[in-house]
Amino acid sequence: MTEEPIHLETDVLVVGAGGAGMYAAIAAARNGANVLLLDKSLIGRGGATIMAQMTVAVAVGEQTPDHWTHHLADTLNAGRGLCDEELAAILCREGPERIREMDEWRVGWTREDGHMKQVMAPGHEIPRCVFVDFLNTGPAVAKTLRTRVARTDGITKISNLSVTDLVVEDGRVRGAVALDLNGGRAVTIAAGAVVLAAGGLTRLYQRNSASVNMGGESYALALRAGADLIDMEFVQFFPIGHLAPRLVGMDPIMWDPFRYKLGGRLLNGNQEEFIEKYGASDSGTYTAPRDVTSYAIFKEVEAGRASPNGGAYLSFTHLDEATLREAFGPVINRLACNGIDLTKRPIEVAPIAHYHMGGIRVTPEMATTVPGLYASGEAVGGANGANRLSGNAITEALVFGERAGHFAAQAATNKVWNSSWADDAVGDIETMAPDSGNAPTFGELFGELQNLMWQKVGLLRTGEKLEQALSRIREMQAQDLPRMRPQNKGPFALGVQEWFDLRAALATAETIALTALNRTESRGAHQREDLPDTEESQTHNQCVRLSGGTLTLESVPVRRTEFEKVALGATE
Ligand SMILES: Cc1cc2nc3c(=O)[nH]c(=O)nc-3n(C[C@H](O)[C@H](O)[C@H](O)COP(=O)(O)OP(=O)(O)OC[C@H]3O[C@@H](n4cnc5c(N)ncnc54)[C@H](O)[C@@H]3O)c2cc1C
Repeated sequence: MTEEPIHLETDVLVVGAGGAGMYAAIAAARNGANVLLLDKSLIGRGGATIMAQMTVAVAVGEQTPDHWTHHLADTLNAGRGLCDEELAAILCREGPERIREMDEWRVGWTREDGHMKQVMAPGHEIPRCVFVDFLNTGPAVAKTLRTRVARTDGITKISNLSVTDLVVEDGRVRGAVALDLNGGRAVTIAAGAVVLAAGGLTRLYQRNSASVNMGGESYALALRAGADLIDMEFVQFFPIGHLAPRLVGMDPIMWDPFRYKLGGRLLNGNQEEFIEKYGASDSGTYTAPRDVTSYAIFKEVEAGRASPNGGAYLSFTHLDEATLREAFGPVINRLACNGIDLTKRPIEVAPIAHYHMGGIRVTPEMATTVPGLYASGEAVGGANGANRLSGNAITEALVFGERAGHFAAQAATNKVWNSSWADDAVGDIETMAPDSGNAPTFGELFGELQNLMWQKVGLLRTGEKLEQALSRIREMQAQDLPRMRPQNKGPFALGVQEWFDLRAALATAETIALTALNRTESRGAHQREDLPDTEESQTHNQCVRLSGGTLTLESVPVRRTEFEKVALGATE
């Protein structure tokens, strides 16, 4: 490949078109910026947002009196002392405004007696979560935002364009370089400001709820651009991912809404309820936090009390078919197609990697440590501390997306471009490499990485396992990645895309293993079997950044707010 790269210019470049990216694009455009919204998948159809099933946590208080400070109190409580309190407060305070705006845009929040219906979810003190029935929240949110993007002047959309590098010059982000997945060509983009909204990293784990494009690219792009990441050790494991029997065409986390609505009993292989043994209670209520439930299932399995396929039972057999149909209508028919009759036998569930609490470190304006570079959505770290409260992630995507777009538009005045700044990144896309006969394939290496992350950097960690993982990840970066480098043969260069996917995955995996090794305690989603206690002295965040090609770590104090004052006196 020796053609000149295609060149594009924009005020604000938004990388990733999930909930956060689409909201950022809308907000930037309504603040007067020209926006380029791009995605490596189809606009509004890739990533987590469209897969999300049910709850969106927000203190609209339509059915039960509520206030955003109560939502904040629950968020901070779930976060085990590590929430960036300013970000968490923004999430809770601005959530109602975003949810009402989505309502005006006809997302279709389920209503009861004319009010938005709100249900209970784990970790919340009161019923607070809005949703779109049946299991339709994510698709409805994505469709509403896609429509809104289409109706907003000033937004150009491009699908199948994967950003491989950000261009930083004189200490400021100047744009990006991307791979056109259809044409196989490099694309350069000059931008006054860039919003990174490329989602999370759970695809790095063998068992996950992720789509194919959730491989940690937000974090790897930010890191290579010189930005700080925060709390990378905190990966959330969703406790009741589907395990058995076979489930085709349905989401592995679909049991969540069943539990919200109907409770359901979580049992070990001996048919005993067990959550109380681990300091929580949720018999038929689904109120135990996710980190505790995941831990409890792992421990029951370890103690030899697993269900036949290595997880726990989830039972709704105490309910009759009419109750199930009333709650879930057509979903019961889809289960029947999979041979599942919940009135007759329990299904089996087990923890799966589901969400990332850590991410790019930002200010309340969503600015990263690199001028001109903003972040939003799951790409951002800090708001949820060591453990996320259920339903907070979509709220976060909408609230942080809106803010990032708003502030990026204000910062986008200074657009300067010199094509030579992009030479290295363009060269990475176009570099010819001889096909090496015995080079490992992407499938082999990515599969190995997923297995490594699951076994050694998963829910139950030890210093020894983390050191082994770190050492192998670094070996893969130094030896396997260069050997796998493919030839760019032009259109549909899948091998080229996979090479960039693996580069990003390894860079992100390294930050998780390193920060997990350095956090010598157990807290929230980070559980060290060799260091089971939570240490008061480690109530700080960890930042990681790339300097001179090496990762460096720094402990930083948790950003606190005047929350106590706000919570005690708030009436607004
Ligand atoms: C199965 C599932 C169910 C969930 N259920 C809920 C729920 O009920 N409630 C809740 O609050 N949260 C839920 N979550 C979490 C929540 O959906 C996500 O945290 C949130 O939607 C993230 O939004 P986002 O816009 O940041 O990222 P995403 O929606 O993941 O969008 C990121 C986009 O970036 C694109 N991209 C990635 N890399 C690149 C690149 N290099 N170049 C260009 N584009 C790129 C991707 O293709 C994708 O479209 C769920 C998640 C999953 C996976």
